Amino acid sequence: MQSQAEAKYSEGKFQPIVEKCEGCDRVVEAEGNKYCQTYLYPQAKWRVGICNFATHQKPEIIVTNVKVNPLKAAKRASKGK
Ligand code: SF4
Repeated sequence: MQSQAEAKYSEGKFQPIVEKCEGCDRVVEAEGNKYCQTYLYPQAKWRVGICNFATHQKPEIIVTNVKVNPLKAAKRASKGK
């Protein structure tokens, strides 16, 4: 007999996961297919970049270091007065 969870995925509402979902904690297996617990269409989540619910990948945060010369900064500040 099918479990309730398996029935949920076999109804056809849930699309199987895409390659990029591999390794995510939200992937569940049902009837030999892999589905996402959270999204019906995992493919759509990856169309515009990284899936925001992915547990295995995080978007890269680009940190830009702006170097400030303290002397010049002090001069600029005093000019403003
Ligand atoms: S949460 Fe995102 S990455 Fe994880 S299985 Fe679902 S769609 Fe794929």
